[in-house]
Amino acid sequence: MNVLVINCGSSSLKYQLIDTDTEKVLAKGICERIGLDGLFTYKPTGGIPFTKIEYDMPTHTEAAKHVIDTLTDPEAGVISSLDEIAAVGHRIVHGGERFAESVIIDEEVIKEVEECSALAPLHNPANIIGIRTCMKLMPDTPQIGVFDTAFHQTMPDYAYTYAIPYEYYEKYKVRRYGFHGTSHSFVSKRLAEVCDIDLDTSKLIVCHLGGGASVSAVYRGKSIDTSMGLTPLEGLAMGTRSGDIDVGAVDYIAKQEGMSMEEIMNMLNKKSGVLGVSKELSSDFRDLWNARAEGNDLAGLALDVFCYRLVKYVGAYIAVMNGVDAIAFTAGIGENDEGVRERVVHKLNYLGVFLDGEANQARYGKEVCISTPESKFPVWVIPTDEELAIARETAALVK
Ligand code: AMP
Repeated sequence: MNVLVINCGSSSLKYQLIDTDTEKVLAKGICERIGLDGLFTYKPTGGIPFTKIEYDMPTHTEAAKHVIDTLTDPEAGVISSLDEIAAVGHRIVHGGERFAESVIIDEEVIKEVEECSALAPLHNPANIIGIRTCMKLMPDTPQIGVFDTAFHQTMPDYAYTYAIPYEYYEKYKVRRYGFHGTSHSFVSKRLAEVCDIDLDTSKLIVCHLGGGASVSAVYRGKSIDTSMGLTPLEGLAMGTRSGDIDVGAVDYIAKQEGMSMEEIMNMLNKKSGVLGVSKELSSDFRDLWNARAEGNDLAGLALDVFCYRLVKYVGAYIAVMNGVDAIAFTAGIGENDEGVRERVVHKLNYLGVFLDGEANQARYGKEVCISTPESKFPVWVIPTDEELAIARETAALVK
């Protein structure tokens, strides 16, 4: 069956058309700068990719219309009519406590996703726009919601409860939710498969290290802890996000600099992480390693801060699971950055796990075991594929 996967941001719409029987991508692309000058990219598998600059896209509706028109275009298209799209899978960032699984979207679901918007004000409203747009353009096609938070809904209360007055949980559902759930779920399942471990009895750790980064502890196939919290700001140091920080430090900076809460949140989300530590050199790890090699101490410090905290989370999750059977690295940094992986694995030598230096040279798209055969447990690079995971979930629900 063909599933159209839609991932709507505030001014963008990413799409992939996937045949879930063969798991082949038929076409993919992105509409960017919606509401501005419109930038449309289309890559059909086996066909001729193209980009249209200054394409008419005042809203997501026109953007989605361009996607559908192009997919069904007699020359550039990969299907002959909309009837060939069996379902649409939407990535939804925050499902709160309401959504522990993917759902078929109806008006009731949209209302509940709207209610979760306060928890993800930048993302959920854009996701809803994408859903409404597709419902309008394809009224007879089932629309499925796949939530970033859903996989982590199995966390026990002592892992998701913040040690603050309980009334804030009762009144506003302030608690830890976790994100990148589709990726943690996909990669943990695949990790168990490639290691030939029974998922239902396993203890796995997944390090999803991209522009946003999070680690999860997956015990018997279920997420029992993850490093992000109520929002994606908690946990690891990231490209531009601070991750864990003493709120007292935030209060102190706000007072010293006379910053509003909005300015503080902007600083912690967009100007911190490795970008902030490196004095705005870059949030891209390639730039940081290069600068470090040229003697830039702050680039080196930014990498040290990132790796050190990552090691701490991995160590913590080994402790909470009372052991570990396998570890996976995934996403942009996890799949490509041998330096980060090397540092983490070296810190696990005491557990009897050792790096295979040659295998660790892996790059994008390659599944590879990076620990030596005599290691006590394996460490793998497993490329994530959130779109495929969404397409699988969608197909399963529609069937
Ligand atoms: P993602 O959000 O998963 O697309 O990851 C994007 C990030 O991956 C970039 O900001 C880089 O920091 C990192 N990245 C991508 N390619 C490489 C590479 N070859 N080496 C190191 N880091 C990389």
